[in-house]
Amino acid sequence: IKNIGVFTSGGDAPGMNAAIRAVVRSATYYGIEVTGIRRGYEGMINGEFFTMDRKSVSNIIQRGGTILKTARSEQFKTTEGRRLAYDQLKKHNVDALVAIGGDGTFTGARIFGTEYDIPVVGLPGTIDNDLLGTDFTIGYDTAINTVIDAVDKIRDTAESHDRVFIVEVMGRDSGLIALRTGIASGAEAIVIPESKTNIDALCERLEHGRKDKLSKIVIVAEGDDAGGAFEIGRHVKERFPHYDTRVSILGHIQRGGRPSCQDRVLASRVGVAAVEALRDGHRNEMIGVIHNEISYTPFEHACKHNVEINPNFLKIVEILAI
Ligand code: ATP
Repeated sequence: IKNIGVFTSGGDAPGMNAAIRAVVRSATYYGIEVTGIRRGYEGMINGEFFTMDRKSVSNIIQRGGTILKTARSEQFKTTEGRRLAYDQLKKHNVDALVAIGGDGTFTGARIFGTEYDIPVVGLPGTIDNDLLGTDFTIGYDTAINTVIDAVDKIRDTAESHDRVFIVEVMGRDSGLIALRTGIASGAEAIVIPESKTNIDALCERLEHGRKDKLSKIVIVAEGDDAGGAFEIGRHVKERFPHYDTRVSILGHIQRGGRPSCQDRVLASRVGVAAVEALRDGHRNEMIGVIHNEISYTPFEHACKHNVEINPNFLKIVEILAI
């Protein structure tokens, strides 16, 4: 391998820059050239390529977002779009790829890797932590710390005014952000898609919870079937008119900010491992960390939408809300 192309795709996540840095620096260490590709698959199709060297990634390890920018590309979902992308890679002499993103990114990479003879490996870059084949994804730790900082602040005002706060956190298909932050912020209840908590069960929890404490925090994952935080808030208001109930959507602040130490270390480890994996002939795999060891998971397994939640976590919330 002489020239590795690196890009970020799908939703951005804190720590993506640390991953880009690790790929560029380790490739340079092994005498391999690096081509940066801007705006994910869309930029690949449009030929947004530039040469990167060790200096291109100076002073970015601490920065959120991605210096390569990211995009969603409908064109890449078509065979013609992928053909255009391949032609651009050939034109720029790119002979291997490191894709940094989530399940959509890896689905695209898997299809591309079967159509064309270009080895692709992936790094798990998403705040959602919804990939198999790694204990944690790059960005998740930073995002959950941002959430608990925000909920701590909400708790101050909830406590002062005796209010019930329904706080919505990110996770379109997964309650993993809600699950951990619910425990860490001392929430009364967590509503996540995986547990099929219905509104009645939640209301029951609120009804039978502590009577002496009027301020309560409920953490809701945005993808929950119960209809999102506003819908839940509406029901809670109806059922408990004596509660002063408010809804707070944390939104995009969860995607930004300086990556945590854990995310920087994870990104650095898997970034180096990705370059080494390409040198060793790996392809069509996501590089993750399981039990503190580097792991290699075929894209089709990494993307399966059945990352299991630990049911004990929900029980912990119930026990500790007593
Ligand atoms: P996140 O989970 O953080 O949102 P993601 O990688 O899952 O990140 P997506 O928007 O789902 O984000 O996917 C990123 C890009 O991957 C898409 O815009 C598209 O270009 C490509 N992609 C997704 N699915 C496919 C597919 N079936 N075929 C080809 N390309 C795809």
